[in-house]
Amino acid sequence: MRPVTKLKPADFVTLLDKTMHKIQATYEPYQSAKEPLAANIGEYCSYCERPVSDAALAVEHIKAKGLSKYERFRFTWSNFLLSCARCNGTDNKGDKDVIYKNIHFPHKNNTMLSIEYGQGGLVQVHSNLVVGSPEYQKAKALIDLVGLDKNPSHPRYKPKDKRWLRRDTAWLLAVKYEQKYQGGNIDLDSIIDLAVAQGFFSVWFTVFENYPEVRKALIQNFAGTTPSCFDPQNNYNPIRRNSTNI
Ligand SMILES: [Zn+2]
Repeated sequence: MRPVTKLKPADFVTLLDKTMHKIQATYEPYQSAKEPLAANIGEYCSYCERPVSDAALAVEHIKAKGLSKYERFRFTWSNFLLSCARCNGTDNKGDKDVIYKNIHFPHKNNTMLSIEYGQGGLVQVHSNLVVGSPEYQKAKALIDLVGLDKNPSHPRYKPKDKRWLRRDTAWLLAVKYEQKYQGGNIDLDSIIDLAVAQGFFSVWFTVFENYPEVRKALIQNFAGTTPSCFDPQNNYNPIRRNSTNI
């Protein structure tokens, strides 16, 4: 899952229509935060990474607005991400409680170290994390929160959930273009244009693991990606976000 940097109130962001916007501490109605959010962290679901064209993208309340104890965060910028209807559906995140110390989140952790992506749209806790360790549990909590690993073999899978299939399609596309790139049949700019339009940063980043110049360009061109989560001295491999946790 792509790690992102949320802008802070009083920071400026360039909206899609090229006007400058000053981030506010609160947005009322909260839906008015959608455009600055999209400009800040890209028009993708913060969880499954699908692009906006796939489904209605909504302002996502990390601390659920359906829980009365979080009513005070209803209009608060720092409580927002972007989510598709599936990730935020009642069978997935819905109104589940989020306690930051128990879970990884893409604006607080390097979630590239939490989750591993593979062929077939596979998503799992990263194999570098020791099973049962605190970081493993926090990564698993994130996957479970939004049901990111759901596919037809998952016990709580619903046929309307096509996230795994979209991820698989992105994987196959990335592999196809990785082969073209390897053969010198497509240039870097075209790869990046395609990836940015298709979404699924983590899939492209994983498939292009042997091409640091592609990884660098992905990091630079997906809006809001946190550059410090990647090591330019070591193939842009993900590194810890801070000294205490990933
Ligand atoms: Zn989603």
